[in-house]
Amino acid sequence: MAVFKPENVEDLYEIGEVLGSGHFGQVRQVRERATGTCWAGKFLKIRKGACSRLGLERSSVEQEVEILQAVQHPNIVTLKDVFESRAEVVLILELINGGELFDFIAAKDNLLESEAIEFMKQILEGLGFMHSKNIAHFDLKPENIMLADKVSPQHNVKLIDFGLAHHFNQGEEYRSTSGTPQYIAPEVINCEPLSTAADMWSIGVITYILLSGMSPFQGETNQETLGNIIAMKYEFDPQYFSMTSSMAKDFIQKLLVKDPNDRMTAEECLLHPWIKPITRTQLAKRNRSSINMKNFKKFNARRKWKMSYNMVWICNRLVHLKLLKGSSDPDTVQRQCESDVEDTETKPASLLRRRLSSSS
Ligand code: ATP
Repeated sequence: MAVFKPENVEDLYEIGEVLGSGHFGQVRQVRERATGTCWAGKFLKIRKGACSRLGLERSSVEQEVEILQAVQHPNIVTLKDVFESRAEVVLILELINGGELFDFIAAKDNLLESEAIEFMKQILEGLGFMHSKNIAHFDLKPENIMLADKVSPQHNVKLIDFGLAHHFNQGEEYRSTSGTPQYIAPEVINCEPLSTAADMWSIGVITYILLSGMSPFQGETNQETLGNIIAMKYEFDPQYFSMTSSMAKDFIQKLLVKDPNDRMTAEECLLHPWIKPITRTQLAKRNRSSINMKNFKKFNARRKWKMSYNMVWICNRLVHLKLLKGSSDPDTVQRQCESDVEDTETKPASLLRRRLSSSS
């Protein structure tokens, strides 16, 4: 059972700039007063009563903490400590300074498939480790794949955000419809029993985007996107995949498989010839192929724009709602808005809720 310390986090840490925001709170840089070391503090609002719709259930935070404690791996964010006050839980996490992997790639002029593979390998190693412990992430998407820093030549990948992760007990049947439309597996949409294979579908989508700058199932609306996933409607349009190796396409095809039992596992992915070439020809093919950088940059710019547009839209709506209700001063409302996102929705824990923050 995870220990949530009752001390006031501000007595031990100086609270600094905002690093990011999620559905239930903010992530801020914090500085440990005793050592001067910087960490990331994830401030999560906790639901106060059974009738309250504000914030997260304490049990969900406990689950996130227990999972983080169980997945100590170089490619997964490390949890240092947890503090709890009346209305908030603060997770003290390793500070990840390198930003999102997709932003790092989009800033480059070009990228060979062999270089992209080095990132994929690390994602798969982190994921394989989680899966070996019967833990699924269930929210793999570009926003949750970061780089430890931008300077070290190894470019260490870190998986973050275990808010939807689940630890499977032996023989357990687990269903959930949470996730981000573009990246979720058909079994999530169909509300079928889930397994770690749902993460492998998301890896297929992420690889497809990384190589082409196109999202395989993206429709005009989220409804259309979900429909395309169910119908398995995707193709390798030569317009976007002319620079892609056949091995890379084979890798994706073995992940975007409807039956979760037939999808490659993380372990199998690491042995696929695209990741681990056996012959010289396979090795050479990877070095001749590159990602569609022009289109990838466009995809990433659109993704970032949608993320900020969604956040501004949600904030404006909340400010409006709270002012109508005669809530406190507008500044306080504005500061709170990012962590109150769920309250704008009528269907909790649904795909709809996630749509608000996703780059749909
Ligand atoms: P969501 O509601 O989207 O699931 P969340 O509330 O679970 O989000 P996270 O996704 O964990 O929160 O974090 C939100 C953002 O904060 C991230 O997208 C990232 O930009 C930043 N962030 C999270 N953890 C760290 C970290 N350890 N170091 C640096 N930045 C971080």
